[in-house]
Amino acid sequence: EELYGVNRWGAGYYSIGENGNIQVAPNHRDQEVTIDLKEVIEEMISEGIQFPAVIRFLDILRSQVEILNETFRDTIEQAEYKGQYVGVYPVKVNQMREVVEEIIDAGEPYNYGLEAGSKPELMAVMAYNENPEALTILNGYKDEDYLTLGLLGRRLQRKMIVVIEKFSELEMLIGLSKKFGIEPLIGLRSKMMVKSQGKWASSSGERAKFGLSIAEILNAIDYLKQNDMLHTAKLLHFHIGSQLSDIRKIKEAVTEGARLYAKLVQLGVPLEYLDIGGGLGVDYDGTSSTTDSSRNYSTEEYIADVVYGVKQICDLEKVPHPNLVSESGRALTAHHSMVVTNVVGEIKAAGTPFDIKPDASEHVLVSNMRELIGEGNDLHPQERYNDAASTKESAYEAFKLGVLDLREIAKIDVMYWRILSDIHQALDTDNYVIQELEDLQNVLASQYLANFSVFQSAADTWAIGQVLPIVPVSRLHEEPKVRVSIADITCDSDGKINNYIEGTQVTPNIPMHDLRKDEGYHIGMFLTGAYQDVMGDMHNLFGRLTEVHVFSHDDEDGDFYIEEVVPGNSAAKVLETMQYNTDYMAKVVKKAVDKQIRKGNVAPREGVRWTDFYEKCLQGSTYLRTEK
Ligand code: PLP
Repeated sequence: EELYGVNRWGAGYYSIGENGNIQVAPNHRDQEVTIDLKEVIEEMISEGIQFPAVIRFLDILRSQVEILNETFRDTIEQAEYKGQYVGVYPVKVNQMREVVEEIIDAGEPYNYGLEAGSKPELMAVMAYNENPEALTILNGYKDEDYLTLGLLGRRLQRKMIVVIEKFSELEMLIGLSKKFGIEPLIGLRSKMMVKSQGKWASSSGERAKFGLSIAEILNAIDYLKQNDMLHTAKLLHFHIGSQLSDIRKIKEAVTEGARLYAKLVQLGVPLEYLDIGGGLGVDYDGTSSTTDSSRNYSTEEYIADVVYGVKQICDLEKVPHPNLVSESGRALTAHHSMVVTNVVGEIKAAGTPFDIKPDASEHVLVSNMRELIGEGNDLHPQERYNDAASTKESAYEAFKLGVLDLREIAKIDVMYWRILSDIHQALDTDNYVIQELEDLQNVLASQYLANFSVFQSAADTWAIGQVLPIVPVSRLHEEPKVRVSIADITCDSDGKINNYIEGTQVTPNIPMHDLRKDEGYHIGMFLTGAYQDVMGDMHNLFGRLTEVHVFSHDDEDGDFYIEEVVPGNSAAKVLETMQYNTDYMAKVVKKAVDKQIRKGNVAPREGVRWTDFYEKCLQGSTYLRTEK
């Protein structure tokens, strides 16, 4: 089970079954309910669904909502904390309608609300958060329309809180409030002093993009007083960054935020809510440490630190305990979805079949290289490696000068890689601690070409070096024999992933099984439910993937059912987003075919088949079609 660290990053949702397949236990209340991921894939294949595809386990979302809310409730009770927990889900993390619907449905008993960070997000949030007891938090920079939508929410009797990110928003909001005669609920976002670590550290500190300094908060309070609106100031907000890996930074932020809250209440600001933002991390690499892709704490510990931390300061400062709001997105959604795709080929440095037999007139560099194959076993591996490398270098120079012909340079290349794999295979890694030789494993690693786009499905692995677990979906009871990096099908060399989570370490190149003829090899890229699902770009026009929504379902009919299939973008759809008129394109191709028919180069029936084929490709998938 140490293999691929599944138990570590799987958070109880993913494990390896006795049959060597990944098992999904999507319901935290009943770990007995498990779904065999390979069976889901087989059902998808039998329904003609093409890969790559996003598989969403919506029960996992439900579980995560329950765990977050119930842990807050339990901790609040144990701590005899007087406020309530009224969390919100920040839709920016995954705006997919079904995701938001599931979260709202699962969160209803807890009055769990939504957060918006832009106008379109707010419009979605207003339509999907109808619970008058749940909060709607309006973050991000705002214009008049955004603020007016916030006032509309108040007219609809919603608990809609406009968080002021900069002073001018307050002036605009008060102006609009007077114009419409509607009182807002106001939150103030504090620019925090505590500086978080990791990839999202710039969300805090004095150079942060969002929030008010303490002086600006005090000015805001004066401004509200002057306008007789101080009673509308209800919430203090902070967010020091996403994926907080070190619990100490969280404790610091809670202390600073709670202190500020208490001091403002003492000044007479009638605050009722303290909003601690997002930041609850996900252990993507399974190391439970402070690496950028992990966290050194549990959800229970995070919640305890928040509840007890705020309580202690409020008690010391003798102010009532606020209702607690958190805006966790990543921790709520990361586990529920994955990208499953198939390996469509292997790119190998070594092993190209080629005749290397000597011929009479061959250049001495070719025979020198051949000697390293035969006699190599007597040479020290380092010496053999050095000789092969320098012979290859000289051969390339000679080729450029026109001294070696194509066949000779091809032989040299093939022999060089054969020598390197021989050295590597004979290497006793315990005895040879020579770095160059140790690196041979990486130099020789093949690439498995997988049918997906890193830029669409795993943007953060490319943009900020985030680690995501990549694991074969089956054959996990077989020892993986090769180490590979995973290359995507974009024509971009950055479209590669090669992080392997080995126990508590992340190492380059991923162990995989050898590919079998006529048997698909499906791999899963896990924990893609937060941000990765929705941040993808249109590099190479691959576009959105097909999605299947899976629910567990425990009866004689099986362990799961596919509730919905959302087709991925067709070629026509992505082209249209780039302003192409695909009807016009089809007409142009048809005209060109007709012209060739008239000239007698194409038979009429064949011509019809070609135009139909072009049109079919426009309606088809942007990814490689691998299933029939
Ligand atoms: N709230 C705000 C204001 C944010 O900017 C973010 C994202 O960075 C979040 C909540 C969600 O954070 P996370 O996904 O780390 O929970």
